[in-house]
Amino acid sequence: MLLNMAKCCCVAALLLVAACDNVAHDQGVHKEEFLAFGTLVNLVIYGESEQQAHTAVKLAIADFMQMHQAWHPWQPGALGDVNRSLATGKSVKIDASISELVNKSRMYYASSKGLFNPAIGGLVKLWGFEQSELTAIAPPSHKAVEQYLQSNPQLADVEQDDLILRSRNPAVLLDFGGFAKGFGIAKVVDHLKKIGLHNFIVNAGGDLQVVGSKGGEPWLIGIRHPRNNGILASLKMSGENSVFTSGDYERYFIFEGRRYHHILDPRTGTPANDFQSVTIVHPEAALADAAATALFVAGKDAWIAIAKSMGVQQVMLVERNGDVLITSQLHQRVEFTNDSEQVIKIVSLQ
Ligand code: AMP
Ligand code: MG
Repeated sequence: MLLNMAKCCCVAALLLVAACDNVAHDQGVHKEEFLAFGTLVNLVIYGESEQQAHTAVKLAIADFMQMHQAWHPWQPGALGDVNRSLATGKSVKIDASISELVNKSRMYYASSKGLFNPAIGGLVKLWGFEQSELTAIAPPSHKAVEQYLQSNPQLADVEQDDLILRSRNPAVLLDFGGFAKGFGIAKVVDHLKKIGLHNFIVNAGGDLQVVGSKGGEPWLIGIRHPRNNGILASLKMSGENSVFTSGDYERYFIFEGRRYHHILDPRTGTPANDFQSVTIVHPEAALADAAATALFVAGKDAWIAIAKSMGVQQVMLVERNGDVLITSQLHQRVEFTNDSEQVIKIVSLQ
């Protein structure tokens, strides 16, 4: 998710300049698009002056750029440096933002029973998903996956004493890509609220947090169909809420007719295969993002237990055959598009 960021942020800076004359006005709505976090970010702001909207866009771009550089697992930067030290067994001093990522992810690692495991960076690399171009990639050999599983890197291997980090296991390579977008969006949202914005959406590639409303009317949010590029369902949102989706269509390659994607099961060392997509609606963006990844990994046998353990109730999952599983808590809020022909199964999470 963070992979194409450096390139994107240069473009983003250019877009900002171009966008100053190009803000869309739709009855008090400012819309702005720029590239950040390896994806297209969409900022929708209601009821603010043009000047305030431009200030907000500038801040958001600067925040996303800073976070991308600091949190990139393999490139030079704060997290890249930490990873290089952890691999040697040395202690390393971390900054406050990395410390926050580690602490927050420990909660999700625990509540997901290790299925959300940000120590998984070595496996992400083994599968080639650290590359920006996923063409001409083949899966790793069974032997390489087996060796990885034996090295067994877990977030629990990482010890922290204040701002000093150390790993008992040199195979640990921290990759917070499974929830960095949610954590980052929440930070940008807080920043925009601090400068006085009350009604807006920060949307990074379809994963988003809404704040307030559009002049008293709820925001209308679409959830992407995992296969046909269209909208599977929509829901109305207002107040503070977020929607995050993990999908097998986001980063993948096809090898000998089979799809291999970037959401990896730490138990098998291979892509998790029960779902095409998992969507979570929850007020806390970081949790929604982490839970979407964790439930995707949990698969059909364990997703309910992990949803309960992580404290998420509004969940929609598209199964491998295209059928939709949706919790009653979310079902009452969504509208499926007329042309979606899926079988819809409602599940109670009581
Ligand atoms: P998302 O789109 O939020 O599900 O995040 C997918 C990204 O999370 C991948 O590109 C990896 O960087 C990372 N990831 C993959 N598998 C896991 C896992 N089991 N636990 C935590 N992060 C993961
Ligand atoms: Mg996620």
